[in-house]
Order: sequence, then structure tokens, then C-alpha cells
Amino acid sequence: MPVTPFHFGPGVLFAAAAPRRVSFLAFVAANCITDCESVFNILRGNFPIHRFLHTFVGATLVGILTIALFVFMRWLARMKPMPNWFEWQQLTLAPVIVGAFLGSYSHVVLDGIMHADMRPFAPWSDENPLLHLVSVSTLHWLCVFTAIAGGILWLRTRQSRPRSASPHS
Ligand SMILES: [Zn+2]
Repeated sequence: MPVTPFHFGPGVLFAAAAPRRVSFLAFVAANCITDCESVFNILRGNFPIHRFLHTFVGATLVGILTIALFVFMRWLARMKPMPNWFEWQQLTLAPVIVGAFLGSYSHVVLDGIMHADMRPFAPWSDENPLLHLVSVSTLHWLCVFTAIAGGILWLRTRQSRPRSASPHS
């Protein structure tokens, strides 16, 4: 994806469909960590820009890193008061794990469809069977539609359960 937020669309839908099982924050964090690689390579002029973190092996590491970051931040928050943005301190580990891996693996799939320099199955294969599975415009619209559908679903869930407030972030 040219812009990381496109990746968030499916995350909105996942989190809205299963708010207690999927952390949207962890989904977003995993996507941002993954794209640190491409931003770094663009800034350094290193090509290809999609490397280790954009493989399924790298995505596994990104998922673990996201979870470790959450555990560390939660530990830190117990020692020292920290801002509780989006109520992240109320999150439990299970939705963070699901959100982190959904975020990192879906990132590889979406970028794999779009970018010719992706090698999702490295180090075992340099092939990219995901490339152009659907057109780039279809892919972008899919991300937009999943975001809209997720937003509508989230609003409907919130309206039907006014006291339960927002789903887990
Ligand atoms: Zn990417």
C-alpha cells in the first residue's frame, strides 16, 4: 500500500465484527511497525523497499514484537502513571494477540497483491503468487469498503448496546 492507513480498513471490520476478540489498536500498531521498514528503505534509497518485515516470517516477528510492546507498556503503566489513550490499559492479552497477527499477516497479503518487489514466502521462495490477484484499484476499494462496513457495524453495535459503550480499542 502506498499509505499505511489503507491497511486499517480490514482491521476496522475485524474489530467491529468481534470487538472482544480483536484489538484494533494492536492491528494498527502491527501495520505501522511493518511499514517502518518500507519508510526506512525509501528514505535511505534502498531497493527493494519491501524486505524481511514484509514476508510471512517477518510478519510473525512483527506480531510477537507488537505483543511484547503491549506487555512491556502495561508493565510500565503499573509502575508509572501513563496516558490511557483509547483505553489501551483495559485491553487483555488475547485480543492484542489476535489483532497483532491479523494486522501483520494481512499487511503482507495486501502488499503482496500490490507490490512487485514483495517476496512474501522468503526465504523459502522468491515467488509472489499474490501479485495482482486483484487489480490495485479493486484492492484500494476493498480497503475503503471494509473500513466503511466496519464503521457502520461498530455504530450499530454501539447503538444497540448503549451502556456497553465502545468495543475494545
Ligand atoms: Zn507495507
